[in-house]
Amino acid sequence: MRETEGRGAFATRTGGEHEPAVPHVVILGGGFGGLATAAALSRAPLRVTLVDRKNHHLFQPLLYQVATAGLAPGDIAASIRQVFRRQANVTVAMAEIEGVDPGARQVRLAVPERGSVLLDYDFLVVATGVGPSYFGHDEFAPFALCLKTVEDATAVRGAVLGAFERAELQASPAERRDLLTFILVGAGPTGVEMAGALAELARATLVEDFRRIDPGSSRIVLLEAGPRILPTFHASLAEKVHRRLEKMGVEIRCGRAVELVDERGVEVGGERIDAGVVLWTAGVKPSPAAAWLGVAGKGTDRAGRVEVEADLSLAGHPEVFVVGDVSARQQDGRQLPGVAQVAIQGGRHVGRTIAARVAGRTAPGCGSGCRW
Ligand SMILES: Cc1cc2nc3c(=O)[nH]c(=O)nc-3n(C[C@H](O)[C@H](O)[C@H](O)COP(=O)(O)OP(=O)(O)OC[C@H]3O[C@@H](n4cnc5c(N)ncnc54)[C@H](O)[C@@H]3O)c2cc1C
Repeated sequence: MRETEGRGAFATRTGGEHEPAVPHVVILGGGFGGLATAAALSRAPLRVTLVDRKNHHLFQPLLYQVATAGLAPGDIAASIRQVFRRQANVTVAMAEIEGVDPGARQVRLAVPERGSVLLDYDFLVVATGVGPSYFGHDEFAPFALCLKTVEDATAVRGAVLGAFERAELQASPAERRDLLTFILVGAGPTGVEMAGALAELARATLVEDFRRIDPGSSRIVLLEAGPRILPTFHASLAEKVHRRLEKMGVEIRCGRAVELVDERGVEVGGERIDAGVVLWTAGVKPSPAAAWLGVAGKGTDRAGRVEVEADLSLAGHPEVFVVGDVSARQQDGRQLPGVAQVAIQGGRHVGRTIAARVAGRTAPGCGSGCRW
């Protein structure tokens, strides 16, 4: 069903026969970028529809705390509806984004009980972020948990705490040792953070809670295919973190890619390491925004993020913007990092740009010197 025929649940594009002359902004993704865009439109005379497959905004930087039982899931997830309760121009739609037709200015959503719904827009903001990448080894996924959603974090927490419980009831010392081995594949910020949090959990939080096992004896192994941990950070900082992690009892192995992950552990550099839990903290791949926008393979960087103009709009489509992790934006010759601040500042800028355009004002300047 086309939303242009049905009306009701969502706002539609302006300019139809019976349409109020209020432009419609559709924001895809209720993460940091999407929320910042919608918030920046709070005073603008337009309608905003914010679409996300989840009903909550997730504070991803604290996922590791949920995964290691330091925080409850509700502490890092906020209802998107509640965030915009007092911003009357925002409608929230929980739906799966299936595609975009930039020519027709429509988004295709999968809506429960209704099937595909077409949503018209005047402005589109794509902020659908990234997901885990197993670098072509999707067969590893069932055995290597990732950390991207609340569900992932609770699954990791269940697996980690479950490994301690199973070890407590295990008679064989070899089986116990394997259960108390935790492997992290990938030593970027998430792997490093998780390794530290696991070391703290095992050597401090749980240390007095068991009778038959010593959680402090747990083996925490951080594997990195590259030559050093934290490859995107300055070498001196990475070296400091490396020493600190080793002090916390984390075993760090660099320079070898994991060859196999199965239900019992991993193989790396020809060596087998059995483990109670394997976590995949190695890489990310963008959501399919490039395919939706028809620029896959031509308007993207090597990772598949959508290349954008200085104002974060899509080339040839000044009404379409791409912000946050899924956008490829360079500053000082370097790709901006996939961090919350970049998404927030980008979203804010796009919100202000749209508001200015609707008001007939000049959009906030952003030449090549624009800093996010
Ligand atoms: C474990 C972890 C730790 C991190 N730690 C830090 C940190 O310490 N500091 C920092 O600055 N950054 C950190 N980050 C990165 C930071 O969280 C991201 O840079 C930021 O979330 C990017 O915002 P975004 O809006 O681009 O995407 P996201 O916040 O990922 O939001 C994307 C939204 O789009 C929705 N979505 C995607 N596809 C669809 C679809 N097809 N249909 C419907 N909805 C869809 C998702 O549900 C999600 O809500 C961390 C990330 C992770 C995973």
